[in-house]
Amino acid sequence: MTFVFPPAEPVSVAISGSSEMFPVNRVFCVGRNYAAHAREMGHDPDREPPFFFQKNADCITTDGVFPYPAGASDVHHEIELAVCLKSGGNSIAASDALTHVFGYVVALDMTRRDLQADLKKLGRPWEVAKAFAASAPCSAIQPVSAIGHPAAGEIHLHVNGAVRQAGDLQQLIWPVADLIARLSTYFTLRAGDIILTGTPDGVGAVHPGDRLSGHIHGVGDLDVVVR
Ligand code: MN
Repeated sequence: MTFVFPPAEPVSVAISGSSEMFPVNRVFCVGRNYAAHAREMGHDPDREPPFFFQKNADCITTDGVFPYPAGASDVHHEIELAVCLKSGGNSIAASDALTHVFGYVVALDMTRRDLQADLKKLGRPWEVAKAFAASAPCSAIQPVSAIGHPAAGEIHLHVNGAVRQAGDLQQLIWPVADLIARLSTYFTLRAGDIILTGTPDGVGAVHPGDRLSGHIHGVGDLDVVVR
């Protein structure tokens, strides 16, 4: 096969303890999966189940730099556990879902709250607020073979050394297996898909020069500087 121009290079993420890379297929995100964050955004977590949206594969960055988007006035950090799939399917049973997981990363779902607020009011799609360049910084992947499936433990984000977000993976309204099962009713999941599982409360604005330090117990650290 020949192409009319060279296809884009695959986006890939390093794997801890391995020289091999994880090729990224798609990036899915879940909204409002921690009750306290749903409340801080003005929603009732008991009545509104989490929902899904997407970023693009090339939103993933691993260089530790977040370039502040041109023209933005309010960009928020959302620290999240992300799940990296090694296989997939559709209508996956929750009881079988974790067998499709290759590993986990610490991720940031960077969000242009300035745009998102208006999009919500107008009932419009969120992509420009969520899927902009470099909007999903990620750590190296910790494979399941090394860490298992983290279901409890601290998830936090410090900005310039001060705690901004702090929660526990036990607070996930929908655990990882349930997210995979539900998402697979909408999409045929595939190896290389990454799912960001939602953020605890405490989201807030970042500014050029800020140093973000994320941590998830059992998964690792993510250090990002805003430029
Ligand atoms: Mn998020």
